[in-house]
Amino acid sequence: MTDLYAVIGNPVAHSQSPHIHRMFAQALGEDIEYGLVLGHPGRFFEDVREFRQSGGRGLNVTVPFKLNAFSYATRRSERATGAGAVNTLKFDGDDVFGDNTDGAGLVRDVRDGCGFTIEDARVLLMGAGGAARGALLPLLAERPARIAIVNRTVAKAEALATGFARHAAGVALRGGAYDDVAGDAFDLVINATSASLADALPPLPPNVFARGALAYDMVYGARARSFIAYALAQGAGRAVDGLGMLVEQAAESFFLWRGVRPATGPVLAALRARDAEVAR
Ligand code: NDP
Repeated sequence: MTDLYAVIGNPVAHSQSPHIHRMFAQALGEDIEYGLVLGHPGRFFEDVREFRQSGGRGLNVTVPFKLNAFSYATRRSERATGAGAVNTLKFDGDDVFGDNTDGAGLVRDVRDGCGFTIEDARVLLMGAGGAARGALLPLLAERPARIAIVNRTVAKAEALATGFARHAAGVALRGGAYDDVAGDAFDLVINATSASLADALPPLPPNVFARGALAYDMVYGARARSFIAYALAQGAGRAVDGLGMLVEQAAESFFLWRGVRPATGPVLAALRARDAEVAR
């Protein structure tokens, strides 16, 4: 029988996950079906139960249900526990395993997709929401020289730095305000805020991009354009959106479910070609 997977979110119709996972399955000859589940706030557990009763083997979880999915899991990976949120559920009888593949997806795209070495780099992480939190353990595991977390609500950045301090041996980890990094330069500048969704820019002080720095916006597509243009104008050597992260986190989920790792390059290229077609 064909194994059933889906992404659950609200809204969910715009999700690229079905397209990505179907391309993975086709390339690997894996017999799966992948659909969309519109979740209902306040009814997440019931919605997931129905999906499992219909034969569902795993779910990707997106806004606003990542915390609900964390509670729903009976076991969790270390990175899900670190993130405090779950974006991937795997069902096996009564066992519900919760994972968070967002941060690993980011690191894989930065490292392998962009060819950037995080080890010994100076990293600026903007934002202190779920995406920034999920990125921290995988980023720290790469042993950068420094990670500065900055956020509009300063206390959240400080709390993240304090909360992850025990995982940061050998890495200078600090949390604070945007103004605190005035005069500092960074090799990797990650926009983990949702500012781009509102066509806004995070309030960065000038000159934070070191020569040749990589600027990375987790937001993808047209909405990342303002930040990319800003970063290049401020001296970044390269600036990219988060489409590669999206594909990499999906590949990590696929691996968890199926035990085989899909090649991401062709899928990312297909999505980029489709975006270019739409923009034309
Ligand atoms: P949250 O809502 O949890 O956090 C949002 C963060 O953005 C907060 O730190 C908030 O600051 C900050 N913020 C919002 N607006 C502004 C602004 N105008 N200026 C400065 N800071 C701002 O969101 P997530 O952490 O879950 O997601 C962040 C982004 O990452 C989203 O846009 C999402 O689309 C993207 N993402 C991409 C993924 C991918 O695969 N490419 C995967 C996961 C997320 P404050 O605390 O002060 O409110």
